Amino acid sequence: MTVHRCFRDVVRIGPVQVATSYDGRGRDKHTAACTAPRCGFSADYDSRAAAELAARTHRCKS
Ligand SMILES: [Zn+2]
Repeated sequence: MTVHRCFRDVVRIGPVQVATSYDGRGRDKHTAACTAPRCGFSADYDSRAAAELAARTHRCKS
């Protein structure tokens, strides 16, 4: 089955974007991804609050 990751509620917190997507199994998934070049931080969370917290506290290594 092809998983269509349809992001919604995209917000930017500093260099990090947080978005909610449907994981195809009846649950929402929350992703935080840094858009800074050479950072590459990206993680999925079970709750929107956790994803936003990670975005707020993220510090780029570079
Ligand atoms: Zn970063």
